[in-house]
Amino acid sequence: MRGKPADERRDRSTPRVTGPIRRLVLVLGDQLDPRAKAVADLDPARDAVAMFEVAEESTHVPSHRQRVAVFLAAMRHFAVDLRRGGLRVHYVPLDDPDNTQALGSELQRAVRALRPDTVVCTQPGEWRVRQAIEHAAAQAGVSLRVLPDEHFLTDVADFAAWMAGRRQPVMEHFYRWQRRRLGVLLNPDGTPVGGAWNYDAENRQSFRQPPRVPPPYTPRPDPLTREVLALVERRLAGHPGGLARFRWPVTRSQARRALHDFIRSRLPRFGAFQDAMWAGEPFLYHSLLSPALNLKLLNPRECVSAALAAYEAGAAALHCVEGFVRQIIGWREFIRGIYWHAGPDYGERNELEHQGRLPSFYWTGRTEMTCLRECIGQVLEYGYAHHIQRLMVTGNFALIAGVHPRHISDWYLAMYVDAVDWVTLPNTLGMVMHADGGLVGTKPYAASGRYIQRMSNYCANCRFDPARRTGGAACPFTTFYWDFLIRNRRRFQKHRRMSLLLRQVHRLADDERAAISARAEDLRQEFGIGSAAAPADF
Ligand code: FAD
Ligand code: SF4
Repeated sequence: MRGKPADERRDRSTPRVTGPIRRLVLVLGDQLDPRAKAVADLDPARDAVAMFEVAEESTHVPSHRQRVAVFLAAMRHFAVDLRRGGLRVHYVPLDDPDNTQALGSELQRAVRALRPDTVVCTQPGEWRVRQAIEHAAAQAGVSLRVLPDEHFLTDVADFAAWMAGRRQPVMEHFYRWQRRRLGVLLNPDGTPVGGAWNYDAENRQSFRQPPRVPPPYTPRPDPLTREVLALVERRLAGHPGGLARFRWPVTRSQARRALHDFIRSRLPRFGAFQDAMWAGEPFLYHSLLSPALNLKLLNPRECVSAALAAYEAGAAALHCVEGFVRQIIGWREFIRGIYWHAGPDYGERNELEHQGRLPSFYWTGRTEMTCLRECIGQVLEYGYAHHIQRLMVTGNFALIAGVHPRHISDWYLAMYVDAVDWVTLPNTLGMVMHADGGLVGTKPYAASGRYIQRMSNYCANCRFDPARRTGGAACPFTTFYWDFLIRNRRRFQKHRRMSLLLRQVHRLADDERAAISARAEDLRQEFGIGSAAAPADF
């Protein structure tokens, strides 16, 4: 405590609001936007805000310590700002001895203590949390108003209207609809600026030599953040991930600086190398903005505007700006739309009937496979990996090895600083594991070690050979890839985009096919995955 400014000590304490109040606004850890309707409309004389740090949110999956620290540090800073703005904040810290450590029971306790007429909250980012709030409000006998989340560009009803009548939602169609609807990178006649809707061909380059990446802006933890880091160190000693490299924005002003740093120093190279990977380079030219966006410290509109301004000023090329805009108004909004469209049972889906366990090296990074060691290693260090590392390394491996989708999606939810159910689940279950039968991705993103070799330098320092599919030196990705195709041949035989690949499986000699399956089975035992999945259908 020594050396802390007095007003900071006061702000961190747990002032209890007493007496009846009109509205109690529940602000969750991923709703830290002071301009959100629920907060902006408050009357300091009659309303109050409630915020709870509950262990339940970091133990229902065993969360990376940086993930917990990002949320708690950002929540505490937000509460300080609200109080400075004159609002009453009922804040229950993690180490409050009376804290029941569950959102529902904390809400009930707050309602009993404060006796509000109504509890108000913004639509949470998870079905489970929404249900817990509804249940707690009903138990406490208080009325509940859930407001739409205006942070997003597409509300749930707009997305439902777009989905109506579509058997197969395709992100590219959604993205063009968004561009037209929002008027982004559009000529007056409705055609795309530059003449094309996307520049994927230019945006899939790999590095021929080591990249020189300008170091990204890294905010220095202030006393409040340092206090959270110490708390997490103390309370969550057994959780995965280190805290030493904590580097994430936890206030709006830090998030704004991170945005401008990206626009100035990495956006001009973001496009070309979006899919590239390089050992020892965890960030490359990516924006690193997902935690700030998902906590609502940043708004997607300001990210898009900043990128468009860079294009108009001639500071970034169209293919880079379009690539970034696509992620924000396309993928991010599409993924969220799918989450609410698919319903609360989405997480139970397992189209490919995979049953395998997640190998223990996902929690330690201890494996001979260089690509997985690098990607998991940086996740342990930073709680971060970029999209292609998530999709084509850690995700691809789980898909082709036959891991149960729930096991791998729990890992993603636990290990990434930007993880919130609405975004983690469709990306993992849908895009990576094809567990939703093609709602998010039209085909499984299965790939052999050859893809990783093409897009990175990982294979150059690996004991395995990405060109081999059988034998002790065979790359496990390559073995599992072929085994995946063999196992799922019948399932995908009528799939338009898979037929070319399956033809290659048919060309394999019987003994080669048997050798691949046997090697895959051995690897599954060696990695502790156990039985893969649905039986082979040859
Ligand atoms: P950039 O590469 O700089 O992209 C810019 C922004 O676009 C991101 O910050 C993000 O907000 C948005 N974006 C890009 N792709 C997606 C996408 N597929 N879905 C949603 N938003 C996207 N993203 C999360 O925010 N939280 C997650 O928990 C998460 N889990 C994922 C799990 C898997 C298996 C996969 C394949 C992807 C996941 N993503 C998740 C999407 C994406 O990988 C991350 O948003 C991105 O890597 C974050 O890094 P960045 O901010 O540097 O992104
Ligand atoms: Fe990964 Fe295979 Fe390349 Fe090794 S050879 S780095 S396991 S893809």
